[in-house]
Amino acid sequence: MPHLVLDSLSADYGRDPVLSDVGLSVERGEIVSIIGPSGSGKSTLLRVLVGLLRPRAGSVAVAGTPVDYRSDAALRKVRERFAIVFQQYNLFQNMTALRNVTVAPTVVKRRPAGEVEAEARALLAKVGLSHRVDAYPDELSGGQQQRVAIARALALKPDILLLDEVTSALDPELVSEVLDTIRLLAADGMTMLIVSHEMAFVREISSKVVFMADGRVVETGPPAQIFDAPQTERCADFVRRIL
Ligand code: ADP
Ligand code: MG
Repeated sequence: MPHLVLDSLSADYGRDPVLSDVGLSVERGEIVSIIGPSGSGKSTLLRVLVGLLRPRAGSVAVAGTPVDYRSDAALRKVRERFAIVFQQYNLFQNMTALRNVTVAPTVVKRRPAGEVEAEARALLAKVGLSHRVDAYPDELSGGQQQRVAIARALALKPDILLLDEVTSALDPELVSEVLDTIRLLAADGMTMLIVSHEMAFVREISSKVVFMADGRVVETGPPAQIFDAPQTERCADFVRRIL
């Protein structure tokens, strides 16, 4: 059974459809990248999955269980399934790196502080920041802040991690440390949906690449197909322009 299944998912912001009939199947531990022109609906798709925007139609299932987006109570459950990291890391500026990672599990989920802190320290070590746990965001580089944001997302123990252009706001020399962190998570078997402009990275890390345009999935395939032998004119045209 696939770990994540999207079936005929549609969404809008009140007017025109922004996502139309999106279908996708993701195995546990699979890394799927979503590419496509600006405005094609990549961020909207991730926002729907994490419950920031309710789907208009269609369904999402994780490990065979339908995800319920209808009520606010149900949306709290969604956060146990998906966690998202954005381009703008949005750390709490008045909290240390460690506190940024522990605050949601302790305050929102009311888990025991000692246990949460031990997990948070392990997560910060995983992202290469064990020496910076007591630093405040303004004392950290952009790459370090983004790695704290990734640790913060993982602290919620999501089934699936969503990464929306997490390196796009970084100075070029800081991109590789964040990509290395994502590689580590992939090696750990974390299931991820990634939106990224780092095409070499997308090609290397993804088992599957989804090409979207105008809110629809136009083509899905292994990186070799999407980048070297696209089956659709739209995808071929996009790839020609970005590579
Ligand atoms: P991408 O991430 O692929 O660049 P988005 O999902 O951000 O695309 O946007 C898809 C479409 O939805 C675009 O036409 C965009 O203008 C529109 N859109 C995005 N966010 C909003 C919003 N908050 N309100 C209204 N329209 C939006
Ligand atoms: Mg976007």
